[in-house]
Amino acid sequence: MLTIREYKQATTLEEAWQLNQKRPNRVLGGMLWMRLSKGNVQTAIDLSALGLDTIEETETEFRIGAMLSLRQLELHEGFTAYSEGANKEALRHIVGVQFRNLATVGGSVFGRFGFSDVLTLLLVMDSYVELYKGGIVPLADFVNMPYDRDILVRVIVKKTAAHYSYKSVRISKTDFPVLTCAAALTQEGVQVAVGARPAKAALVKDAEQLATLPMTAEKAQAFAEYAAGLLPTETNPRGSAAYRTHLIKVLTARCLTELGGKA
Ligand SMILES: Cc1cc2nc3c(=O)[nH]c(=O)nc-3n(C[C@H](O)[C@H](O)[C@H](O)COP(=O)(O)OP(=O)(O)OC[C@H]3O[C@@H](n4cnc5c(N)ncnc54)[C@H](O)[C@@H]3O)c2cc1C
Repeated sequence: MLTIREYKQATTLEEAWQLNQKRPNRVLGGMLWMRLSKGNVQTAIDLSALGLDTIEETETEFRIGAMLSLRQLELHEGFTAYSEGANKEALRHIVGVQFRNLATVGGSVFGRFGFSDVLTLLLVMDSYVELYKGGIVPLADFVNMPYDRDILVRVIVKKTAAHYSYKSVRISKTDFPVLTCAAALTQEGVQVAVGARPAKAALVKDAEQLATLPMTAEKAQAFAEYAAGLLPTETNPRGSAAYRTHLIKVLTARCLTELGGKA
């Protein structure tokens, strides 16, 4: 059981950061993952009064506040249009609407969970995290950074010209995914982010120009084989390493075929 001794609603990011420097204190997102942990928290730091529960859309980017709920991200019209519905496909499988009304983007990204649909989706986009002390860091770097005591303020997604596709496989509806796969067709070519291997999402770019336009089934398959060769998989109770490698090939090829149709 998790025991929280004190609760503090931070009034500034500086206050939240100062409180978070003390080892027994912890920042709260939606608390859905945290509540499953064991131990004692001296002061739970609530960010909900800091105005971080919005998406600001400008001509060049989306600025997604850390306290935005997954449901808000799923329903945001501008982000849905930009991602061509990939946001809905990534998020709709996560437990249920009530759950997604509580789970936050900040908790999901800071957590860097292996199974994360959220991380997989954002990683295939031109995404950055804004850390209170650490500044703006590419998400691809943040994914592999050690956990520290900074505050994730927002996620920034640049409106790079791209098409997107998202697919995942689950043994049963609303379960954790066996594999997550997000693909993008940018002006530099295709790239794919694959998570739940079960390691956290990693990005593969088409360095060898295997899947240039016009897309064909053969090109999609060639890139899918290439990506599967670069992405290690492991066995856990949801699937074997061999099954996951097979899924990387199948989902990547399907995403690329879909992207080919959008180009
Ligand atoms: C039963 C269950 C099933 C799930 N299934 C899926 C799934 O299928 N797909 C999927 O993608 N996700 C899934 N998730 C994960 C979920 O979507 C959220 O990512 C997760 O709950 C974390 O979000 P939260 O807002 O609850 O964060 P919390 O649990 O509150 O926080 C998570 C961690 O992040 C830290 N933190 C939170 N916000 C910040 C911040 N702004 N700055 C710094 N640190 C911060 C907290 O201190 C904590 O260590 C599942 C979770 C559960 C509990």
